[in-house]
Amino acid sequence: LPNHTAVVSHIAIDIGGSLAKLVYFSREAHSTEPGGRLNFQSFETDHIDDCLEFMRKLKRRYQRANGANSPPASELCVMATGGGAYKFYDKIREVLGVDVLREDEMECLIIGLDFFINEIPREVFTYSEEHPMQFVEPGDNVYPYLLVNIGSGVSFLKVSGPREYERVGGTSLGGGTLWGLLSLLTGARTFDEMLDLASEGDNSNVDMLVGDIYGTDYGKIGLKSTTIASSFGKVFRKKRQAETEAEDSGGLAHKDQLHHRQQQPRTHNGVHTPPLLDEDVEQPEPQLSDFMSKDPSRPFSSADISRSLLYAISNNIGQIAYLQSQIHGLSHIYFGGSFIRGHPQTMNTLSYAIKFWSKGAKQAYFLRHEGYLGAVGAFLKRQP
Ligand code: ADP
Repeated sequence: LPNHTAVVSHIAIDIGGSLAKLVYFSREAHSTEPGGRLNFQSFETDHIDDCLEFMRKLKRRYQRANGANSPPASELCVMATGGGAYKFYDKIREVLGVDVLREDEMECLIIGLDFFINEIPREVFTYSEEHPMQFVEPGDNVYPYLLVNIGSGVSFLKVSGPREYERVGGTSLGGGTLWGLLSLLTGARTFDEMLDLASEGDNSNVDMLVGDIYGTDYGKIGLKSTTIASSFGKVFRKKRQAETEAEDSGGLAHKDQLHHRQQQPRTHNGVHTPPLLDEDVEQPEPQLSDFMSKDPSRPFSSADISRSLLYAISNNIGQIAYLQSQIHGLSHIYFGGSFIRGHPQTMNTLSYAIKFWSKGAKQAYFLRHEGYLGAVGAFLKRQP
């Protein structure tokens, strides 16, 4: 909660498939100055009860501050958007004891984005390895643009003017995919742990690169030797090789035995984590550092896998974003959604994909509050 004396009068919540994003306005109780501050907070949607408890505390604070007023001020204003605004509608009203105004999710996204683009300095930036985080000031020609919102899934929205938009595409290979698959493949326990692993990893241990196939680059069609030809393309061969070596060294009596044991699922903190390679002895409780080790009997480190999958998902989205922008004649592409999380490799991959495919004609933009577009949009929709 913000400091004890700040009063909250207005809350907006965007409840998605993975995360519930909360935005609220707070002001010092006895301040005579106008204005206050916007606060941002997120919870896992699975922990919606914690989120509602947090909101209930904000409401109590509001009531305490207004109890002294006469006549009493109006009710605390609660706006809601995202699928959870429907799924948890009754629950929110019941816990908070206030009316909840629901708003359309896509409309909130673009209202939030327009606000960030036009009103907030040092919010929108471009990204490249050479020039990370170059802030851009709003220009005169904001429209039209493409918004790529990478949440659990991905939505592509063509925006032609204020509140003028169309959802032109989508893909289910999004943030939820990375979160889900890496929980299976690495045993990392949080999304941030996965991103940390990805930062440490070397995808060339897992991905088949142009250089692996050609032995050199393929300059004629513009492919460097480090270009990924096939995400996870090295895994099968390396895994088989490691199995054969293990067999030859007498570590395993029968191949069948290996297969049998690989099919035994393991659980780790409730997360189902099949082993990548079999081990003969039970391993102790895994630590994050274990996943980053370079043990030769585990040819695929969790860090390498995380890096590879992050690239695969981001490259795929970058490619679709480029194609959508091409179909609809858009040269400004904004990337939002909590998937990005300010992560350098994610932004670099998306940005590079746009630059590469458009031969520099199109530009990718990112936002400091990328996960809060919908929540801010809902916040702004309050009727005066
Ligand atoms: P949604 O509205 O579908 O929940 P978000 O824009 O909130 O979408 O993005 C959710 C995605 O953000 C997750 O699927 C995951 O990839 C990523 N993410 C970022 N931070 C977290 C976190 N703390 N816990 C889980 N996922 C996170």
